[in-house]
Amino acid sequence: MTIRLYNTKTRKKVEFEPIDQENVRMYVCGPTVYDRAHLGNARPVIVFDTLFRLLRHTYGDDHVTYVRNFTDVDDKINATALARKEAGAAGTLEELIAERTEETIGWYLSDMSEVGALEPTQMPRATNYIAQMIAMIEDLITKDHAYAAEGHALFRVRSYENYGALSGRSVDDMIAGARVEVAPFKEDPMDFVLWKPSTDDQPGWDSPWGRGRPGWHIECSAMAKALLGDTFDIHGGGLDLQFPHHEDEIAQSCCANETDEMARYWMHNEMLQVEGKKMSKSLGNFFTVRDLLEQGVPGEVIRLVFLMTHYRKPMDWTDAKRGEAEKMLGEWMSVLQKHGYSQKTVDMLKASGDWVADAEFIGVLSNDLNTSGAISRMHVLAKAKTAAGLVPLAHAMETLGLVNDWSILDLSPSQNDDMPEWAATVIDRLIVERGEARAAKDWGEADRLRDLLNAAGVQVTDVAGTASWLPGADFDLSVLEALK
Ligand code: AMP
Ligand code: ZN
Repeated sequence: MTIRLYNTKTRKKVEFEPIDQENVRMYVCGPTVYDRAHLGNARPVIVFDTLFRLLRHTYGDDHVTYVRNFTDVDDKINATALARKEAGAAGTLEELIAERTEETIGWYLSDMSEVGALEPTQMPRATNYIAQMIAMIEDLITKDHAYAAEGHALFRVRSYENYGALSGRSVDDMIAGARVEVAPFKEDPMDFVLWKPSTDDQPGWDSPWGRGRPGWHIECSAMAKALLGDTFDIHGGGLDLQFPHHEDEIAQSCCANETDEMARYWMHNEMLQVEGKKMSKSLGNFFTVRDLLEQGVPGEVIRLVFLMTHYRKPMDWTDAKRGEAEKMLGEWMSVLQKHGYSQKTVDMLKASGDWVADAEFIGVLSNDLNTSGAISRMHVLAKAKTAAGLVPLAHAMETLGLVNDWSILDLSPSQNDDMPEWAATVIDRLIVERGEARAAKDWGEADRLRDLLNAAGVQVTDVAGTASWLPGADFDLSVLEALK
């Protein structure tokens, strides 16, 4: 099956031909780790995770290298740490910065795993590649594409004639529309920072230009080169990164590596909006992935809402779509459950070679990640009348990352033979009440009920709006006794 992708660079949908079929290489710009991921940040993660899964399906699980970085040196991180210090937090500023990045990376990974994202093959942190960044900047200076001035190193934009090619615009047009920083030490206002000086209380590294820290763009160029080589297959990120970030990455990498291309295919996801409006703190419609999860919206529902819109179209998060996705998933899950699907069945299907994809589904998805078309095809697949006939649906759910663990289907009270009936009734009642409290946005009550279930050692899993439960290792009947 050939995959076709829309290449931003040529503004055309073309057949994807990897440089090396044995090792398909993709780089996606990752988050700056200063705060919880907002819902918009989940879009590139879900889009490129879906592409990663399709590439693995097509070329083999061990033949795709996906790199997504963490930007763990940035003024926003410093500002957050400084604010904490000023609020009286213990520790040096350096410790507070390290604490902030560690905690944010932990949150990010757990939130993205809840929306079904596989971990990329490599997740480099910028601060582990400072030496490579310094080497690349020195190389650019030697080749006259960059210069040092007043503790800074700057890229000489006019030295790279293809600057602007990704966006299809000339340097002059770009300057006119951009907020370029004018500084006395710049030869040209368009030149951008590769390295900048740090004050004593800012993170910094020794360099030929004094103690300082890298600019954001050079981080990706250095990490991509170190992990994927001078030219690789796919480079992705949000559309907001196309200019200047990606233009700058290309300029740095192509000039330092003396190549015509940094990546052969450039892909950009459109942005997320909320109920038709830009998501922003000032409009009061800003929320994080964690906020939604805590309100009881299951991760797979969030993921399906994203997949309902093509990645190159602006996407609107609405409550109506959330409901639609919840209903769809619920229907697919229940048809599989009705036909006896469980972790064991899927394991057996996989072992016997009967776990097969629907060619039409893969074909639709391979057409520039037409996820909404793929979902339409799944509605057809869900009409199958036999367990064997439903394999393509189950396979498709896994390929889209909507189910990562089929044991989800095993969680049903009927399987707990040792459970006294009254206890199952109490648990069911607590879960129903928790659902009602959430629907009424009574988070205090919902939390109280969740704590009760936790205290009793009952593990609750929410799948597609339906809660299932199992007694955990610390199951404690006595807690439920009191609620009989
Ligand atoms: P940042 O941490 O702001 O650099 O963003 C990390 C990633 O999230 C980048 O790929 C951005 O393009 C993407 N992103 C940020 N906001 C949105 C949004 N509202 N919709 C879609 N993608 C976004
Ligand atoms: Zn980048």
